[in-house]
Amino acid sequence: MLAENEDREPFKTRRPVFVILLGPPGCGKGTQARELSKTVGLVHISTGDILRKAAREDTELGRLIQRKMTAGELVPDSLVCQTVISRTSQPDCERGAILDGFPRTLDQAIFLCPMLPLRQTIVLSLQISRTVLMQRILGRRTCPACGEIYNIHFRPPRMTGFCDRDSVPLERRTDDNKVTVQQRLVEYEQQILPLANFFRDMNIRQDINADVEPAVLTAQLCALVQTAIIATGKNVSIR
Ligand code: AMP
Repeated sequence: MLAENEDREPFKTRRPVFVILLGPPGCGKGTQARELSKTVGLVHISTGDILRKAAREDTELGRLIQRKMTAGELVPDSLVCQTVISRTSQPDCERGAILDGFPRTLDQAIFLCPMLPLRQTIVLSLQISRTVLMQRILGRRTCPACGEIYNIHFRPPRMTGFCDRDSVPLERRTDDNKVTVQQRLVEYEQQILPLANFFRDMNIRQDINADVEPAVLTAQLCALVQTAIIATGKNVSIR
């Protein structure tokens, strides 16, 4: 949260802030994005969540998205880019947004580029070991009602299998199984290097060790994002 006397007026006159969270599936991007969103007051946009919702629709498009997601493959760039454009144009994104799961390919990053000079952009690249990653993915459970994310190893609910808040049964994502996860990781590793280099060359990428307690990571990410927000008020670029 912004400190008591920190300049609050600001957001309208400040450039909006884009926080881009990069990291492999299961590294905690979703959880961290939700916490960040609550603390710094920026909208959380998860392309995975938007696509999961679209995949439930009984349409040609819904079925295509469902097929891709179940196979652990990426959904076509054009479709995802269109989704992001329409979501970030909503009035609630006036102050900026936390992008979780986008961009995921170099083409998506290039697509995003024209939007960046108008915004303060910070790319936080979460680094995590493969062993912890598998435990996080295979142990992940989500509440279908409120979207809260649990983990049976690291963050179990109070009552096994049920959301603390809504008491509804927790669900396991259909793509959180061993076979699909391997494919998602292969896909990630193919895409991440060019993407990471792209943001390194723009000098807006910061690598963060995500192999730590989630709360420690949250505190670190919040501090970085708040610095970026404050920088927009002073008309200072973090580049
Ligand atoms: P996530 O919830 O971020 O792990 O994403 C789940 C799945 O949604 C991915 O495995 C892809 O099939 C799809 N997806 C999410 N974001 C993107 C993106 N930016 N580009 C293409 N596919 C995506």
